[in-house]
Amino acid sequence: MAFDPSKVRSDFPILAQAVNGKPLVYLDNAATTQKPLAVLDASRRYYEEINANIHRGTHHLARAATAAHEAARDRVARHLNASESAEVIFTSGATDSINLVAAILTLVPGDEVLVSALEHHSNIVPWQMLCERSGASLKVIPCHEDGTLDQDAFRALLSERTRLTAFTWISNAFGTVNPVREMCAAAKAAGSLVLVDAAQAIPHVRIDVRELDADFLVFSGHKVYAPTGIGVLWGRRSVLDALPPWRGGGEMIKEVTFERSTYNVLPFKYEAGTPNIEGAIALAAALDYIEGIGLEAIAAHEQHLIRRAAEGLSALTDLRLFGPDDRVGALSFGIHGVHHYDLGTLIDQMGVAVRTGHHCCQPLMARFGVTGTTRASFALYNTEAEVDTLIAAVEKALVMLR
Ligand code: PLP
Repeated sequence: MAFDPSKVRSDFPILAQAVNGKPLVYLDNAATTQKPLAVLDASRRYYEEINANIHRGTHHLARAATAAHEAARDRVARHLNASESAEVIFTSGATDSINLVAAILTLVPGDEVLVSALEHHSNIVPWQMLCERSGASLKVIPCHEDGTLDQDAFRALLSERTRLTAFTWISNAFGTVNPVREMCAAAKAAGSLVLVDAAQAIPHVRIDVRELDADFLVFSGHKVYAPTGIGVLWGRRSVLDALPPWRGGGEMIKEVTFERSTYNVLPFKYEAGTPNIEGAIALAAALDYIEGIGLEAIAAHEQHLIRRAAEGLSALTDLRLFGPDDRVGALSFGIHGVHHYDLGTLIDQMGVAVRTGHHCCQPLMARFGVTGTTRASFALYNTEAEVDTLIAAVEKALVMLR
């Protein structure tokens, strides 16, 4: 039986409000998702029942908080089908995870880092900074007019100089789904390390890091119904064990003297300082929540909505959809003669929340000759009626703007 979003909307109290006197239609899920009661309850229960600092205490609360935090790590590892929980490093988000990897790699002049034209600034700037300090160069996999990556160009760019290849699984701007397994295999065959940005994949697709065969995979909790301030770096043990630590501080050490320090084992080697304990526990609750509904059912529902939106919007005069037809999560469009900001502002007055602008993808916008787009992005709680409200709101705004 098809998934019925009306059954889960009451799990998200924020959705019940009116905006500008109209029912809220929240279609900015690629920026951040709303949080279900199960997640809010997990956060609250943590502070009400077991709040304590972890790993170092012998008292009851410290042991309970440590157990819950490490159970959350196990939960994430299971969700990713990681070989072991120690490969799951908690960070503050995808950006933090990518910066961690960029900080621990040592490159030399002549080395290359390969990214794609579709990347979020988070998966460009840390590599640029690494290249600046090491003398390595940044290369870019171009994309076609339909917003898919040029796979022939990708293969031609790979060489023995490619030390790291970093690409997104799903584009936050266009919803393009990259052939990540094939891309990982090609990059690894060239001898490159591979980082997959799963920030937009995590709420929509099943991730199996063993099958994927990347070296690193990153995501943020807040894109998958968990709070902000918690994220994950999954890293292959054989790779991370051979790399140096990053931030220094408590927890990441084995022994400290004023002469020298020795470092802890994975995952603690990369978790200096008190972590976001509640965030990790709430992330585990969010993963339980989506698995309770069924990731495949959620994905099918979201696919139905995005196709309906694409079909309805493309019937409007002078409207251009970006990205391929089989886009996932995000639907970007532009309308000739209408500024995306004006459109976003007008439809907000009708209660419809979408994102306008460059979506932290300025190089991609430049490639398409635009300063930004209007983007509607979908989650499990969105409905057909909301899609129809979006289309009607855009249509009405166009009459006002033209
Ligand atoms: N990568 C992609 C594809 C994203 O969509 C985002 C956020 O929009 C990020 C990375 C950065 O995520 P965060 O800001 O949560 O670190």
